[in-house]
Amino acid sequence: MDVFDSHTHANTMQNSVLELMNVAGVTELAVCSFVPLAKNPETLRDHFEELCTFQKERIEKYGMEVHVFVGIHPLCIPENWKKAIEFVEEFLAEDMATGIGEVGLHFLNEGEEEVLLHQLKLAKEYSVPVIVHTPPVNRIDAVERTLKIAEKAKVNFDNLVIDHTSIDTIGIVKENNAIAGVSIKPGLVTPETIVENLDDFEDCLLNSDCANVTDTDPLAVPKTVRYMMREGIEKKTIKKMCFNNAKKVYKV
Ligand SMILES: [Zn+2]
Repeated sequence: MDVFDSHTHANTMQNSVLELMNVAGVTELAVCSFVPLAKNPETLRDHFEELCTFQKERIEKYGMEVHVFVGIHPLCIPENWKKAIEFVEEFLAEDMATGIGEVGLHFLNEGEEEVLLHQLKLAKEYSVPVIVHTPPVNRIDAVERTLKIAEKAKVNFDNLVIDHTSIDTIGIVKENNAIAGVSIKPGLVTPETIVENLDDFEDCLLNSDCANVTDTDPLAVPKTVRYMMREGIEKKTIKKMCFNNAKKVYKV
C-alpha cells in the first residue's frame, strides 16, 4: 500500500535509509524545515533553498515525491525573525513550498506566540496548509493557545494541522475542527494506540517526524500500516489514514 509520510525531516536521512523508506511503501512525504540553533534569518533562507532544490532532487531519486514546508520552528527563532518571515513568504510566492511548517509553540513564551501569529497570517494570505508543532510538556495549554492564535490570524482550520497530537490532545483538536497530525513514536503514539482509538484517529495525518537527531523511526508509518492490516482494520480506512487524508489536506 502506498504511504504518504505527512511530516518528516528526511533531508537528514542517508541515501540507504531513503531507499528503505521507499521499499517499505513510502511514495510521498512532506519535508519540514528545521535548523537547530539558527541565529540568522539568512541561515534559514539557505536551508529553505537547499530543501526545495538539492534535497528534493536527492529524495525523489528514491521514488518518493517530496512536498516542502518552510517556516520558523520555535527552536530556531532568529533575533531578526521578521526578516525570516519575509523569506518564508518568498518561497510561498514563488510556489517553491507546498505550505508552512514546522512552526508552533515549544516553551510557550510571548516571542513564540508572535512569530506563530505572523506565520499563520501568511498561511491565511496564501491559503496554504500549515504544520504546527506541539511540545512534549504543557501539551493541552499549547494546543489551546495555538487555536486562539489561529483564530486571531483568521486561518482556515481546514489548513491547520496540529501535529504530534495524542490521546490527550486529539479531543480538543477535533472539537475545534482543526486537522490532527499524528507522529508515531514511543512515548507519544504507537500503532497500538491508533488501533485502540481508531474512531478518534481516523481523520488524522500519520507521520514519522523522522530526523537523525531524535529517537524516531523512518519506517513508523509503513510499520503502522502493517500492524493495522494484521489487526484486521479495513483497507479503506488504512488507505485514508496513511495516504488520502494527507493528499486532501495538503492539496497535492
Ligand atoms: Zn518535526
